[in-house]
Amino acid sequence: MAKISTVESNIVASFDKVRSDILLLNNEIRKVASDMELMKQELSRLYQNYSDMNAQVSSEARKDDSGAKVEGAKKLAELRQKIEQLKKERSKAQKSKVIVKKVSARAATKFVASKTGKKFHKPNCIFAKNIKPKSRVIYKTKDGALNAGYKACHCVLK
Ligand SMILES: [Zn+2]
Repeated sequence: MAKISTVESNIVASFDKVRSDILLLNNEIRKVASDMELMKQELSRLYQNYSDMNAQVSSEARKDDSGAKVEGAKKLAELRQKIEQLKKERSKAQKSKVIVKKVSARAATKFVASKTGKKFHKPNCIFAKNIKPKSRVIYKTKDGALNAGYKACHCVLK
C-alpha cells in the first residue's frame, strides 16, 4: 500500500504541478489576451488615424481639384479674351490692308474717263468722282487718254 501511496502522492504532486502550470499558462494567456486587447486598441487607434488622414487627404484633394478648376476656368477666360483680341487685331489689319489696296489703286489711277464722256480727269476731280464704276475707264498716262480720243479736263491742266 505504501508503494501505492507513494504513487498516489506522486500523482497528486504531478497534478499539483500540472495545475500550477495551467495556472501559469492561464496567467500567460490572460497576459497575452490583455496584450492582444492593447494591440487591438492600438490598431483601432491607428485605423482611426488612418481614416482621418484619408478623409483629410481626399478633402485636400477635392480642394485642390476645385482650385485647379477655378484656375483652369480663369486661364480659359484669358485665352478667350486673347483670341477675341487677336480677331479684332486681325480684322483691323484686314481693314487697313483693304484701305492700303484702295489707296494704292487710287495712286495707280492717274487719269479717269467715262465711257460715255468726252473728257478725262484726275481721280480727285469732282467729275471723276461722279463717274459710275461700270462706265469708268482708267489711263495710266495722259497720252493713253488722249490717244483714246478724250480731251483733258481743266483739272488735268492745273
Ligand atoms: Zn476734271
